[in-house]
Amino acid sequence: MPNDYLDKFSGTLFGVAIGDTLGHPFEGVLREDIYSYFTDFKEFIKSHKKLFNTYTDDTQLTLHTAEALIQSSGFNLDNLIREYIKWLDDPPIGPGYGCLISIHKLRYGIPWQKAASNSGGNGTAMRISPVGLFYCNNLKALKTVALKSSIITHSHPAASAGAIVMARAIAYLIKKSPNTGFSIDEFFDVIISSISNSQDDIWEEFIEILRKVKKNLNISVDAGLIKFSQIGVKSPYFIEQYFGKAFVHPYTMSTVACAIFIFLHRLDSFEECIFELATAGGDSDTVGAIGGSLAGAYFGLENIPFELRKLVKNHKYILKVSESLYDKFKNRYG
Ligand SMILES: [Mg+2]
Repeated sequence: MPNDYLDKFSGTLFGVAIGDTLGHPFEGVLREDIYSYFTDFKEFIKSHKKLFNTYTDDTQLTLHTAEALIQSSGFNLDNLIREYIKWLDDPPIGPGYGCLISIHKLRYGIPWQKAASNSGGNGTAMRISPVGLFYCNNLKALKTVALKSSIITHSHPAASAGAIVMARAIAYLIKKSPNTGFSIDEFFDVIISSISNSQDDIWEEFIEILRKVKKNLNISVDAGLIKFSQIGVKSPYFIEQYFGKAFVHPYTMSTVACAIFIFLHRLDSFEECIFELATAGGDSDTVGAIGGSLAGAYFGLENIPFELRKLVKNHKYILKVSESLYDKFKNRYG
């Protein structure tokens, strides 16, 4: 087993937290408006540190997912539900409706089959990276666990497809190195096959969207964001006023599509990648968190600038969680 897996585990969780932290002030803001605030984002962060003083629900729930996996050396439904209920006392920062309502129901003892909301929101894809890490050497379990951990809060098929795709992408990327790169064709083959042959129309639609992302990697980040910001969003949820604008809709398909699109455009450095993700526009913190998990899994902690790690609230705790999760992984799969 490569020794640098620990670096990848920590990189992934820090990727989520940094993307979330940097994107948080820009949640619900158009990309064009975000870029009117600064010419140099790095300088802007330095001179406005107070703006970036917290992460949100994306990182909170990712850490609770990791804690649940640590407690039971893998997936255990009761532990996961207990951790998500604990999140209500964190308290939640900028939570999505789907997560909040379903987890409140779980707290009141309603079984998950009835508690889950029919939301196709980002709540599952944004918290799934620890599953992708822990099950990177057991892809059958990865898919089962990604699905099970999703449906307890989100019964909509877009949410489970997003979780599986993201977990699979993480498992792929932690085995790659920025020194040698990876094949874009292989990356798409791997994530698309993770949700293939499902007989589910929404999963099939997701596959078509991922294919479209791959086909459009030659267009600019701005053009791509305009194209994919609301892809898959249906009436009455489509936001007419943002048609033709870069404003990522908080729907799993559009957010995952935008996060993957930006990540694949910025494979030169973690810093460039995370800056672009966190300023996507619209659901910027979640694009930052989801895309940040990809960037962190690929680049690893060693390629994440120290000042960005230090910017993150509870960074010592995040490092500790990464180490504990890695230890459990090593004991089970090492
Ligand atoms: Mg958030």
